[in-house]
Amino acid sequence: MSKKAQGKLVIFSGPSGSGKDTVLDKVLAREPSLRRSVSFTTRAPRADEINGVHYHFLTQDEFRRKLSCGLVLEYAEYGGHFYGTPKEPVDEMLAQGETVILKIEVQGAARVREIYPDALTIFLLPPSLEVLEARLRARETDGEEDVKTRLAIAREEIRRKDEYRRHVINGDLDAAVDEVLAILGGK
Ligand code: 5GP
Repeated sequence: MSKKAQGKLVIFSGPSGSGKDTVLDKVLAREPSLRRSVSFTTRAPRADEINGVHYHFLTQDEFRRKLSCGLVLEYAEYGGHFYGTPKEPVDEMLAQGETVILKIEVQGAARVREIYPDALTIFLLPPSLEVLEARLRARETDGEEDVKTRLAIAREEIRRKDEYRRHVINGDLDAAVDEVLAILGGK
């Protein structure tokens, strides 16, 4: 693959409840040329999620098969489920010179950085842990156990924020969107 034609890989992380999806939706609405990778996951779809749009929802067996066929760029276990980035579509988009955004958690991000050391890394933070907890509880799609698991993972993820080149605080949504767009260089 020609390195010259390569597009830009962007890793976008942040704890559950930091607002990654909301920020990314707005960023993509303002800059439709940006591409977003659709991950594999073994977790169950939420009520508003569409297979192939938000995730490719797979059984554990299907996920393992993707892994053993070398079709996964990186993967991680999160809250008892597997999440992974499909390799082929990302390779293809990068080869076409596109900017590709991976919305992934910190373990997967560390693996991607090993493969793509030049990846642009952005970590989205909530204004405080209290706000994060309130947002997770307000979501109501996740049960109490799930909220507790996500909060525990969030604390661990925030401890690793310095592994990222850029930090954006999502207090005011529009300001956070502006900041991410500015980091992406107006792309
Ligand atoms: P959720 O269940 O809230 O959709 O996602 C849980 C966490 O998994 C989030 O931090 C999300 O960014 C992350 N995630 C989603 N897709 C992937 C992926 O393909 N790889 C990795 N490593 N994490 C992912």
